[in-house]
Amino acid sequence: MLRQALLAVSRSERAERLVSTSPLTKDVVRRYVADDVGAVVSELTRGGLLVSVDHLGEEVTDRAQAEGAVHAYLDLLGRIPEGADVSVKLTALGLRLSEQTALDNAATICERAALRGITVTLDAEEHDTIPGLHSVHAMLRKEHPGVGVVVQAYLPDAHERCARLAELDGARVRLCKGAYTAAGAYTSTSDIDRSFVRCLRELMAGAAYPMVATHDPRLVEIASTLAALHGRDPSSYEHQMLYGVRPDEQRRLAALGCRMRVYVPYGSDWYPYLMRRLAERPRNLAFFLRSLLGR
Ligand code: FAD
Repeated sequence: MLRQALLAVSRSERAERLVSTSPLTKDVVRRYVADDVGAVVSELTRGGLLVSVDHLGEEVTDRAQAEGAVHAYLDLLGRIPEGADVSVKLTALGLRLSEQTALDNAATICERAALRGITVTLDAEEHDTIPGLHSVHAMLRKEHPGVGVVVQAYLPDAHERCARLAELDGARVRLCKGAYTAAGAYTSTSDIDRSFVRCLRELMAGAAYPMVATHDPRLVEIASTLAALHGRDPSSYEHQMLYGVRPDEQRRLAALGCRMRVYVPYGSDWYPYLMRRLAERPRNLAFFLRSLLGR
């Protein structure tokens, strides 16, 4: 219930104005969103962590905004090191205007990223954008086979999706639970976890490069066990977590020799991202409300 309410609030412009104008929101935002992306990336990479950087923004309504997002990524690509990844939301690149717009814009980012030795991953968003996401991904892969895509385990067809992607040699596939609302999606923790494990089995057994995006200790453990069972080298898959969530665990996994990538969001359009993080963990909500009230 609370999760659904917070996800609804994440789409409310009125709530956004209220939350964004509170000076006390700053501390909460800083926990999850990099305010100096260059400094955060340097610190993480110095500590042996990999990064995927997300320029916050989604749901543009005209071409100029989509071009603005492309320019922000082109600028970002000049500021992050080789080996980094950038996470891109196709709705920020114009997916709601047309698939072709999103494809052209994503291709521009992929071309520049390739020159810098940086990979690109396409985030998964609201469920009505998922067919467009996979169609753009398939088209982009023809020229840019390294482009990654996200699968949300809460969608009942996630397993079939993973089975298909697992056949593609080296395809970079990020598996996560899913952070939005979706009609027909699994809602119970046990159903989502079961789906996550089924997807993991496909990905670890197949030819793809799995990117296991979860903070859930049980699923992290299962991923490592399945990787070992399939004789995977530690360099043939990676763990991923969000900036600000379980940083000690991120460092622990990296120290064990795992590839550990931290998803680092930055930029002024942080509101929907922050609300999704609060929806994942109601305990964070109390912390957030206290800081809003100045207590
Ligand atoms: P949970 O059961 O939510 O959490 C497990 C444990 O992790 C919790 O008990 C807690 O200890 C800790 N934890 C989890 N969340 C928080 C938090 N916000 N604050 C503090 N502690 C927390 N979703 C999409 O729909 N599309 C995407 O493209 C996408 N990309 C992602 C990329 C990465 C790298 C990651 C890590 C997640 C991404 N997500 C994406 C979000 C994902 O779908 C989940 O909503 C989110 O990761 C929480 O699920 P969990 O697997 O960590 O498990």
